[in-house]
Amino acid sequence: MPALTQIDLLEWLRESRPARLQSLYEQADAVRREHVGDAVHLRGLIEISSHCVRQCMYCGLRQANHGLPRYRMTKVEILNCALQAERLGYGTVVMQAGEDELLTAEWIEEIVWWIKRETRLAVTLSLGERQEAELQLWRSAGADRYLLRFETSDARLFRLIHPSRTPTEPDRLTLLRKLKTMGYETGGGVMVGIPGQSFESLAHDILAFHALNLDMIGIGPFIAHASTPLGSGGLRPEICPSQQAPANEEMVYKMIALTRIVCPDANIPSTTALATINKVDGRKLGLKAGANVVMPNLTPAKYRRLYEIYPAKACIDESAADCNQCLRGQIHSLGRFAGQGPGGRGAAETPVRIQPDTYSNLVQVQI
Ligand code: SAM
Ligand code: SF4
Repeated sequence: MPALTQIDLLEWLRESRPARLQSLYEQADAVRREHVGDAVHLRGLIEISSHCVRQCMYCGLRQANHGLPRYRMTKVEILNCALQAERLGYGTVVMQAGEDELLTAEWIEEIVWWIKRETRLAVTLSLGERQEAELQLWRSAGADRYLLRFETSDARLFRLIHPSRTPTEPDRLTLLRKLKTMGYETGGGVMVGIPGQSFESLAHDILAFHALNLDMIGIGPFIAHASTPLGSGGLRPEICPSQQAPANEEMVYKMIALTRIVCPDANIPSTTALATINKVDGRKLGLKAGANVVMPNLTPAKYRRLYEIYPAKACIDESAADCNQCLRGQIHSLGRFAGQGPGGRGAAETPVRIQPDTYSNLVQVQI
């Protein structure tokens, strides 16, 4: 049974009194400390391709956005990023991309196999809705985790903003269940404040996280991108204005906190999208509201700006070493510590003392 009912969740999602919200964040923070400890896990993000065959109505990488120059990283570039992740002390690399058909099953398999052979890193894939046989192949090559947000549990809204490519393709909830049976640590998640998304459907999203028994749960604000139908107002899903959930940071902190209470031992990132709408404090406030993961960007500088899911993304001008130092500084300022190992679900850690200078001395890989 979830710790909160749909009615409790709905009340909290509509709450706006600062003192009440503060008490919610403190409760979530205490649950976080009790169940996953004070470690904040660093997952190095490599955005390996911006090509995508889909037409998601919210995303700047959608195929119809012809104004965006596309890139695909080479194997050597990806492997260099993985080596850099290990050198920077991360426990995981996350390879993320649009649904790019030229990232063939064998091509990805070889990279996964190489990273698992040459490093101690956990490998997370986030490559969209791929064939079951491909997902199985990558799992057999050693991939540990798969991230696939279901974006909203409102099936009608999902189909509107995320058109199917074929009439028979499985939905993302079905794929998440499949991934679990394959032995992946499985991550889902949602955007908050999608046009047409109600408070009620957000409450339902949290119950869906619990029902799916997700290992990782990513929650970020919807950020309008002018080159997309949802961001430009070209698509306006119908909803009564009083039901529309706002896409603001407070709503995201509430969602993170409630998710932590309902799914106490899940890994929950304080997302880049949150850091984008509050560049000064967004990440830290997410960590204080129940999150325990951050995702420093390892994508080579020449590609970062081109992975434009939404505009003005945080951390596009920083180098990998800058991101590393900045995030570690934020983690320490909260009295917490950076996790050392892969940081899978349920793996609590105790702090290891490292001199702050160590990070600035790390050698950078030249790409
Ligand atoms: N293509 C893969 C997929 O769709 O799962 C992975 C890459 S996709 C860019 C990763 C996530 O970005 C999506 O699951 C979605 O939640 C998020 N995203 C896309 N457009 C967004 C927007 N306009 N605002 C906030 N998040 C967005
Ligand atoms: Fe492609 Fe993923 Fe963006 Fe959809 S959300 S357009 S699948 S990159």
